[in-house]
Amino acid sequence: MYRKQEVIRLEFWFTEKQTKDFGITMRVKQTYHSEKTEFQQLDMVETAEFGNMLLLDGMVMTTERDEFVYHEMVAHVPLYTHPNPRHVLVVGGGDGGVIREILKHPEVEKATLVDIDGKVIEYSKKYLPTIAGKLEDPRVEVKVDDGFMHIAESENAYDVIMVDSTEPVGPAVNLFTKGFYEGISKALKEDGLFVAQTDNPWFHQDVIRKAFKDVKETFPVTRLYTANIPTYPSGLWTFTMGSKKYDPLETPEERFGNIDTKYYTPEIHRGAFLLPKFVKDLTE
Ligand code: SAM
Repeated sequence: MYRKQEVIRLEFWFTEKQTKDFGITMRVKQTYHSEKTEFQQLDMVETAEFGNMLLLDGMVMTTERDEFVYHEMVAHVPLYTHPNPRHVLVVGGGDGGVIREILKHPEVEKATLVDIDGKVIEYSKKYLPTIAGKLEDPRVEVKVDDGFMHIAESENAYDVIMVDSTEPVGPAVNLFTKGFYEGISKALKEDGLFVAQTDNPWFHQDVIRKAFKDVKETFPVTRLYTANIPTYPSGLWTFTMGSKKYDPLETPEERFGNIDTKYYTPEIHRGAFLLPKFVKDLTE
């Protein structure tokens, strides 16, 4: 005798550990997909507090509720720093959030996304549609390839490059090297600029210090800025910008457009570069 069964949802608490004694913990209501891809462990889950969430190798990549902070700050700070960003490259970023923000800038003619892992793109489209929903836009070209190789093969091609990579483990290790920043300089046009996510200043000071030093040795203008992202370890996240010509701190008032954002404003554009002393020390 068969009876209708209730779907059993196995709830659990997920922790992303930073040290053996500290982590960030969330209640997970269900796991949609779990797979070891060619490059990393991919998990797509539903959290109780932050909506659907993408994990790669056990690290939080993005959640539906707070994704706007990271994606707006990766995209709009460099795009308003550059006076005419027409060709933009995203290295990593397979969830599509940075692309969605880039497309808010009408002067961008083409945005190329190069993520090494096609599975991230596939499952983001399926479970994070509000984030990945613009990946099919006609202005967007999506390539599944190693961003390091794509940069090595590009010359004088982009106005702005955004490195939206995983932390420096697994396939992203090369994206935190001086050779990569030198490649980015070559891949940019003569007045180009780039930004890379450079982790948090509580547990990964070494990553920030090294990235800032390497970028400073490669670009005439180097700046560090921060944003508050609750689901990333420590909540305080850094971004390192290298620019051949334009300084984000000198962005003229009239350049700021009227785009729809939830975190980014012209005031945040400037204020994000005001660093707490212990973070500023990492740049000296
Ligand atoms: N916002 C996130 C964070 O800071 O935690 C990262 C977003 S996640 C979409 C980063 C992406 O970088 C992943 O999709 C991963 O596949 C991609 N990635 C890692 N190494 C890469 C490489 N060498 N080339 C291109 N993409 C890479």
